[in-house]
Amino acid sequence: MTYLTRAHALTDKLIAIRRDLHAHPELAFQEVRTAQRVTETLHELGIEYTTGIAKTGVVAYLGEGAPRIALRADMDALPILEANAVEYKSQNDGVMHACGHDAHVAGLLGAAMMLSEDFKQGKLKGTVKFLFQPAEENTDAEGKSGGRRMVEEGALDDVDAVVGLHVVSSMPSGRVYVRAGPFMAAADTFEAEVIGHGGHGAYAHESLDPIWLSVQVINAIHGIISRRVDPIKQGVISVCAIHAGLALNVIPGSVQLGGTIRSFETRVQDQLHADLERAFALTRVFGGDYKLSITKGYLPTVNDPKLAEFVRVIATDLVGAENVGEAEMQMGAEDFSFMARAKPGVFFNVGAKKDEQSRPHHNAIFDIDESAIPIGAAMLAETARRYLSEH
Ligand SMILES: [Zn+2]
Ligand SMILES: [Zn+2]
Repeated sequence: MTYLTRAHALTDKLIAIRRDLHAHPELAFQEVRTAQRVTETLHELGIEYTTGIAKTGVVAYLGEGAPRIALRADMDALPILEANAVEYKSQNDGVMHACGHDAHVAGLLGAAMMLSEDFKQGKLKGTVKFLFQPAEENTDAEGKSGGRRMVEEGALDDVDAVVGLHVVSSMPSGRVYVRAGPFMAAADTFEAEVIGHGGHGAYAHESLDPIWLSVQVINAIHGIISRRVDPIKQGVISVCAIHAGLALNVIPGSVQLGGTIRSFETRVQDQLHADLERAFALTRVFGGDYKLSITKGYLPTVNDPKLAEFVRVIATDLVGAENVGEAEMQMGAEDFSFMARAKPGVFFNVGAKKDEQSRPHHNAIFDIDESAIPIGAAMLAETARRYLSEH
């Protein structure tokens, strides 16, 4: 029996887990109940586990010795008030599994159910490590996300490869998408203050209008991608926040600006940071000033070419060539990137479109087709099984 057949037999169980997690979502680094739900299932399966990794994460092992592969699921929800009228609607008002991480946890537990059976029957040799990771969506006070903390705490030290997946609400359910090499972007943020000096709105010439200075800066920022970066390369800078002024006849003294910087390659990333600095330096040409701080965030998610091909073959065998697609590069970011930097890794997508309604990720009406959960479980289990038998 293939893992897909076996996973289909587990569908009700996995949906029940997903719905329980969906009804009880928890924000980044607060996944206490979620972790408990995970450990209860691992305990039932007789799988040893450790809690408190990266604060609220859980790691577990099946088997021992080489080869060693890690399977990862993220566990956190988002600060969104759910607008779906479903029986498993969030009972934690203002918190919602609007990215599908509830399905990731259910899927990884499904893989654990199947793999633990096979280990017990002596069918598998080597180690499968399960990483139930907190805080993919947010960072703590030190600016670190759950995946990054797991890497720093050594959770990837004793594995040879790491595999993760994301359900995607806009992609046809039942399909698997993978690509080799750069997949998701690096995400940095910037915060800035443009400093002029304020005055009477009627006597602008007696002030140094920081809003006018900001317009020069924003124009320059919007020219960076089209005029400064090699058009063959990818990048984006978006100014996402701008705050200044209160009264309609007073020129403020300063403007606060902030936004996001996305890239795939270090060289482009460095260039974007340098040119952003230059854009703000325009304020000085007119006698103003600025403060700019850039914070490096998630790394680009880069799939190991061999592992990507490995997963593509597995997907083809499980769901058929007609249901396997090439994933497109995305400007979105993932903290799986830290794991894939630490060890050869592959991150792939499982289509989970529920109905004709558009249900974007991070949206109050986000939802998925739950039949994607056993497919994810089967993909993870089969990837682990083949990795152990072929390495
Ligand atoms: Zn998300
Ligand atoms: Zn996500």
